[in-house]
Amino acid sequence: MTKRGHQIFNVVLVFAFIYNIAFTYLLFWPADFVNTIMHAGTFNIAWHLICIFAISYAASLLPDHDIVIDLLLDKKKRQLVLYEIFHHYEVYLLTLFIYAPLLAVFLLMLLVLPRKYQQAIVKHRGFSHSLLGLLFFTGLAYLTYPISFARLLCTKQIFLVAFLLGYAGHIIADMMTYSGVHLLFPLYKKYTLKYATDNDRALSLGIKYIIVISSIYTLVIWAIWMYIR
Ligand SMILES: [Zn+2]
Repeated sequence: MTKRGHQIFNVVLVFAFIYNIAFTYLLFWPADFVNTIMHAGTFNIAWHLICIFAISYAASLLPDHDIVIDLLLDKKKRQLVLYEIFHHYEVYLLTLFIYAPLLAVFLLMLLVLPRKYQQAIVKHRGFSHSLLGLLFFTGLAYLTYPISFARLLCTKQIFLVAFLLGYAGHIIADMMTYSGVHLLFPLYKKYTLKYATDNDRALSLGIKYIIVISSIYTLVIWAIWMYIR
């Protein structure tokens, strides 16, 4: 999926997530909901919402850094990185602002490996788009949080939830495309839902899934509330 596709998918996913969390909280613990907002202050709530969007937005573009790192490690293609960064400088500024320590540690780990392992790890839609990659980068996000700017923005819990939404959302969005991802890396098999033949269709399919799952969740939660009240 294209960068723009991932950006749109991520915004819809985060919105649906926040909406459903707020809805559940409001339905089952209305007094706590109001207390939390009164206690935290509306500015703090707004600030945290902005941070969740920013952190998960940048995380939703992290898996495709395999392309950039692959170019960076190849002497002949290195100059293409400058071209890529120049064209999407705002995305890279945000990513570096939040994830510079994570990317630095990952690059250092890569540099000590022999070239053939480096190539296997940065192969597009491979390790970074797998469950192993999701686990690895979430761990790295957790460990580098204390030395990242993210700690100035929000708590570790909020940071990790936003990171997971963005990162896992990227993998799910890529699975909507025909070419799929190596979900079980290092196994070679690619996993795809095989419904969408182009990026536009993959994006609308992904958004449809979010809307359907989110609506089902809302209805189920409401039905449970009606039943127990
Ligand atoms: Zn991708």
